[in-house]
Amino acid sequence: MKLQSVRGFKDWLPEEAIKYQHLIEIARRELRLANFQEIKIPVLEKTELFVRSIGEVTDIVQKETYTFEDRNKELLTLRPEATAGICRMVIEHGLYMRPKPLKFFFIGPMFRHERPQKGRLREFFQIDVEFMGNLTPFYEVELLELALKILRSPVEGKRDPFNLEINSLGCPECRPAFRDYLLGALEREKEKLCETCKERLLRNPLRILDCKKEQCKEIVGKLRPISEFLCKGCKEHFEILKSLLEERGLSYIVNPYLVRGLDYYVRTIFEIKGEGLGAQDTVCAGGRYDFLIQELGGPELPATGFAIGLERWALCALGEEGLPAILEEAIKPQAVFIPLGDLARRKGLGIVKTLRNSGFKIDAFFEERSLKALLREADKRGVKFALILGENELKEGKILVKDLHKGMQKLVEENQLLEILKES
Ligand code: ATP
Ligand code: MG
Repeated sequence: MKLQSVRGFKDWLPEEAIKYQHLIEIARRELRLANFQEIKIPVLEKTELFVRSIGEVTDIVQKETYTFEDRNKELLTLRPEATAGICRMVIEHGLYMRPKPLKFFFIGPMFRHERPQKGRLREFFQIDVEFMGNLTPFYEVELLELALKILRSPVEGKRDPFNLEINSLGCPECRPAFRDYLLGALEREKEKLCETCKERLLRNPLRILDCKKEQCKEIVGKLRPISEFLCKGCKEHFEILKSLLEERGLSYIVNPYLVRGLDYYVRTIFEIKGEGLGAQDTVCAGGRYDFLIQELGGPELPATGFAIGLERWALCALGEEGLPAILEEAIKPQAVFIPLGDLARRKGLGIVKTLRNSGFKIDAFFEERSLKALLREADKRGVKFALILGENELKEGKILVKDLHKGMQKLVEENQLLEILKES
């Protein structure tokens, strides 16, 4: 039997890993500057956590989770997203008693049993950001600006492919009226809905609003938008948010059909879409979840957050193929060290360590092959310097530095080596 990875679970080859790590570093830097603290939550949680947070009737919980009994017959689920786990952590460790706002982020894999396709995997990475505390629209705008800054950072100076869409889902006071209206209006058109939406009508009617099927879009397009149903508080909140976005020069589209796949959102929700991604074009999604922490047994603690899908971000910002020039350089060593003969190899272990201690990225060849063959290997890697330690060099206590790009060479002392590398 040929061994293969599980469908929808991807390996990261080095040239892919470097792209993802590059983006993760960008996100980490920005999040730290905004004083978000990195945390880690477990890959596995009790199934109940996701049923209670994401919602029993959502697509994620009903169809997408990896759920199984472990050897003790405990029902467990691989996390399909991070918000639920972070809320559990905040409650379990009493983090809500710390000075607020609480600002956390987590980067790691999520698992959903969906149909794999472009931009859709079964194991995918998210950069998840959560903000908990007294949530004025200012914080929401701060967070939106942060999300956009992170996403746009790798495409700086190029065409901006990212578009922000926002909507308000109302609150427990006004949403029921919209839901009732929706149920009534859709019930009358039921026969024309797609099979999935027929089902959604019973368990999750809001989700019908963002069905991608033409037949459903046509029906949805004739509905009254949720904005007509918002209560005074929700309306005001949304107006302030929009005016702040405008003041900040952040362009947005109000998409009245925007809903999220998770039950816990109230008021502001948003998606940042990336051009050129096809059907799976939402790179970042999030919104407010003011009551979730309370519903999970914690105190009243309004919150908001977003998650960036790392693979989709990479597709959009760095393209599908090839490596951007900045990363080309990042995967190359600055020099390869080529010792010839056993004595040189022995001494070489120490030299290589010293060079690395000084912060240089050094590859070393310790196999018994001819200089010519090893230089060819160095060339293949596109590396600039070959540092050769042969019998003569050993005798003189020097190293031969060969500039493979310029075709020049120079015999130098070990300490001069550092200067040469620094200048490169
Ligand atoms: P979608 O509209 O793709 O179904 P969602 O509403 O399920 O997304 P969220 O749960 O909000 O998405 O996840 C946030 C982000 O995580 C998405 O915008 C996307 O970038 C990424 N993401 C979600 N599911 C997948 C997946 N199966 N494969 C790859 N990335 C994903
Ligand atoms: Mg989904």
